[in-house]
Amino acid sequence: MTNPIMPADFGFNFDNSYLALPATFYQKQAPSPVQEPAMLVFNQALANELGLNAATLASQGAAYLAGNKLFAGSEPIAQAYAGHQFGHFNRLGDGRAILLGEHLTPNQQRLDIQLKGAGRTGYSRSGDGRAALGPMLREYLISEAMHALGVPSTRSLCVTTSGEAVYREEALPGAILCRVAASHLRVGTFQYAAAEQNHALLIALADYTIDRHFPDLRAQAQPYLALLESVIDRQAQLLAQWMQLGFIHGVMNTDNMSICGETIDYGPCAFLNRYHAEAVFSSIDKNGRYAYGNQPQMALWNLVRLAETLLALIDTNQEKAIELAHASLENFNALYANYWLSGMRKKLGLFNAEDDDQALADSLLQLMQTHQADYTHAFRALCHGAFKPSALYKAPEFRNWMGLWHARLSRQSQSGEESMQLMQSVNPTVIPRNHFVEDALQQAVYANDLSAFQALLAAISQPYIASDLNDPYQQAPKAGFDDAYKTFCGT
Ligand code: AMP
Ligand code: MG
Repeated sequence: MTNPIMPADFGFNFDNSYLALPATFYQKQAPSPVQEPAMLVFNQALANELGLNAATLASQGAAYLAGNKLFAGSEPIAQAYAGHQFGHFNRLGDGRAILLGEHLTPNQQRLDIQLKGAGRTGYSRSGDGRAALGPMLREYLISEAMHALGVPSTRSLCVTTSGEAVYREEALPGAILCRVAASHLRVGTFQYAAAEQNHALLIALADYTIDRHFPDLRAQAQPYLALLESVIDRQAQLLAQWMQLGFIHGVMNTDNMSICGETIDYGPCAFLNRYHAEAVFSSIDKNGRYAYGNQPQMALWNLVRLAETLLALIDTNQEKAIELAHASLENFNALYANYWLSGMRKKLGLFNAEDDDQALADSLLQLMQTHQADYTHAFRALCHGAFKPSALYKAPEFRNWMGLWHARLSRQSQSGEESMQLMQSVNPTVIPRNHFVEDALQQAVYANDLSAFQALLAAISQPYIASDLNDPYQQAPKAGFDDAYKTFCGT
C-alpha cells in the first residue's frame, strides 16, 4: 500500500485575532501570484526560533512565501491605517503588504506573518503593490542587524524573488519580503479609527491593543491613559537605543511608528559614520525633519497624534482628557533623557550615577562632532584605550576629557576590566555601515551575486565582538562618501 501524499507541514500555527476587529480595519485580500517564485535568502535561525519547520520551508516554501499558495490556516488581509507623512495627514493602508495571519510560537508568542510586495490591495492607490529586490534585501539586512544589536525590531524570515520585473526608474528584479512583527498596530491605525469618527471603532482598537500588547493594563482604573503612557515609555526607550547606535530611521511618519515599540519600516534608514547631530541621508527628507538629532522630538510629535486619537476614551470631559494626556506626554522628555543617560553610562563603562555624567557624555559628543570622529570607532576605541591617531585623539580638549573620564571611572568600585566588559557589551564593533550595505545590494541586484550580502549579514549578526568574520566591516567609508550618500524609500 502506498502512503497518501501529505501536504507539507511548514509548522505554522495560525490564529488570526485581527479578523475579530470591526471589518473597517481591513480588507480580505489574497496575495497575487508571481511568475517564478524562488527562495533567495532564508533566515534559518528565526524559523527555528518561531517553531517552524525550517528545512521544509527553505526547500518547499517559496511558492507560499511569494504568495502563490496559501499556508493552511492563513486568512490573508490588507490592514487599513492612516498616517501623517512628513506632517501631512493621509489615509493609507497596506498598499503592497498582505498579512498572512498571526502565528503562535511554541511559547505562545503571537506574531504577524506579513508579505511585503505581495501585490495590489484596495489601498494601493496608484502603486503596483510590488517591491524591488534591493529594498527588500535592505530591510532584511538592517532589521536583522537591529535585532542583533539588541534593539526591538520587526524581523525578516526570508526574501523570495518573483521572476518578474518591477518598474521604477529602471526595470528591477521583483522580490517579496516575509516580515515578522509583534504586530502591525501603528499610531496610524489609531488615526484611521479616529478619522472614521466612530467611538466604537476606537474602543475596539484600544481594547484589542491592550489585550495583545499590554494585558496588565486591563485592571487599571484608567486603562486607555495607561495605554498612552505605556506607548510613550516604549518609544522613549526605543529612541534612546536608536540614538545610542547612531541609527537614523529616515521616515518617522506616524504610519511607521509601531504601538508595541518595535522599529518598523526600513526604507531610507542609515547609520552614522561621522558623528553629526544634523545628519540626514534620505533623499526625500528635504528639510531634515527626520534628521538624526531630531528623532526624539519627532517621536514625541507622533505620540501627540496618538494622544489626540485617545482623548475621547481617556475622559468624557474633553478638557480633563487633554489635561491628563498632556501630563503623560510631558513625561516623554524626562523618560527619554533617563533612558539615554543610563545607556550612555554603559557606553562609558559607568556602573553608578553621578550628577555630572550628562555633561561628561554631552561634551564627548560635542568633541566628536567638532573633530568629525567616527561615532562607532570612537566608542569602541574607548573600550580598549586604543585610539588611531585621529583628529579627535590629537585634540587637547579630548585629552582633557579623557582625564575627566578616567577620574570618573576611578571613583567607582568596579575594576577597569569590569568597565571594559560593560563597554564592549554595548558599543558595537560592527554596524551595517552605508557603504558596505550599498555594495552588498549592488552586487545582489546587478550581478546576481549574494556573497557580499551573506558576508555582511554574518558580520552584523555578531555586532559586539571583534572577530575575523566582522573585522573587514569595521572600516569607515572613504572621506566624502557620506557627503554624497543618499537613501531612498524603496517603494
Ligand atoms: P512607506 O513609505 O513604505 O511607509 O509606505 C507608505 C504607503 O505607501 C503605505 O500605505 C504603503 O502600503 C504604500 N506603498 C508603498 N509602496 C507601494 C507600492 N509599490 N504599491 C502600492 N502601495 C505602496
Ligand atoms: Mg510604512
